[in-house]
Amino acid sequence: MRFLSTRGQTEPLGFSAAVATGLAPDGGLFLPETLPDLSGELADFAWLGYADLCYEFLRRFATDVEPTALKELVARSYRHFTHPAIAPLEQLGENLFVLELFHGPTLAFKDFALQFLGNFYEHQCRLRGETINVLGATSGDTGAAAIHGLLGKPGVAIFILYPDGRIAPLQERQMACTGAANVFPIAIEGTFDDAQAALKDVFGDQDFRTQHRLSAVNSINLARVLVQCVYYLYAWLRLPVAKRQNVEFVVPTGNFGNVLAGWMLQKMGVPIRGFKIATNQNDILYRLFTTGEYRLAPVAPSLAPSMDIQVASNLERFLYYAAGRDPARLRKIMETFKATGAYRFEHFNADTFTASHCTDAEISAITRQVYQKYGYICDPHTACGFKDLSRDRVSVMLATASPAKFPDVIRAATGREPTHPSLEALKSRLIVRHLLKADPAGIKAFIAEHGV
Ligand SMILES: *Cc1c(COP(=O)(O)O)cnc(C)c1O
Repeated sequence: MRFLSTRGQTEPLGFSAAVATGLAPDGGLFLPETLPDLSGELADFAWLGYADLCYEFLRRFATDVEPTALKELVARSYRHFTHPAIAPLEQLGENLFVLELFHGPTLAFKDFALQFLGNFYEHQCRLRGETINVLGATSGDTGAAAIHGLLGKPGVAIFILYPDGRIAPLQERQMACTGAANVFPIAIEGTFDDAQAALKDVFGDQDFRTQHRLSAVNSINLARVLVQCVYYLYAWLRLPVAKRQNVEFVVPTGNFGNVLAGWMLQKMGVPIRGFKIATNQNDILYRLFTTGEYRLAPVAPSLAPSMDIQVASNLERFLYYAAGRDPARLRKIMETFKATGAYRFEHFNADTFTASHCTDAEISAITRQVYQKYGYICDPHTACGFKDLSRDRVSVMLATASPAKFPDVIRAATGREPTHPSLEALKSRLIVRHLLKADPAGIKAFIAEHGV
């Protein structure tokens, strides 16, 4: 299988190269050249456990990875999940289900992709006899999940920049209390945007990048999207047969990565009715899917911080298909958007998608109502999904984080304080972090000193 750039000005690459490259040199994102048709395989898939299903799915894309190696590294990726089902599907009502995606090491759904990516990087290093330095910037969950995907791996060091004092204390502890010698959490003086700008600058230095074999960890990586398709398939196979075709997956959304994965699975012949895009008050995607206009607006911090985004980086993959897989048209859309901060779609076909948005007050109210009605405690991101629930479809809510990560919000809304043993254990551990200025030269010197 080959992978093409959405912008059409990069040579197609195999799976391993596309994953290692991240952003395509022409500025586009990689997509499979063709999507396999899975409709004839669904009956066989129904019996597989999570890791086996993941292998069966991925082997259709990762055709340049030796099958036994792929199988082994997939199996290892789900070994540190604490629930035997990996992604348990809980039923709350006749037509209401919750797919819990927070039983991995950092208690958020990003573990699904980043546990795999960590093992994949390690595998590639071993194969080539090379070392790599992984660098990323985070406003919370991604950094923690990336660190836990790579901690203790030989031949890999990981550096994560985050804005000092602007991420949740528990999230900082998840990054800074691992005790692993190859992990370097870097608190940057400034905002997330300052950290992001410094990161861009470091990656912009080609010589430094090559010399230190820098690799990015970010939400646009091809492997992340593909790996995330699997839990949609797994959940679909666990629904009662009579409900499957009428299912709408409800997806708390920021960068459009998670919902894109579900939509791609639908394009592979899995009969899913649709998707609900659930945003918080930063609702650029809600506006796009209800009005056809994609328009930037300032970001306002919310109770669901992992969805506080400005530009949904993975949307480009969806737009590529919406533009009839025509890279020239896609480039024009992206250019207009970059120049004016807006794009209006004339015939925006949003049949498959519904959308909702949720203020902070609504997040709190919904958290309370869901607890009172179902006895179920959901985290603030998941709460956004419960807004405007469909009456005539079967809803599967993707629960993207454990409520234990947001004890203050939950206590205020329900009077209960959810805890989790892995978070409790963190509270007594030593914090090891490095404080740096948002200065590319200083960050490069740090990497040169501590990297592998
Ligand atoms: C990252 C994240 C999201 C948003 O996921 P996208 O793929 O960016 O849409 C939602 N909830 C939680 C808890 C997250 O960490």
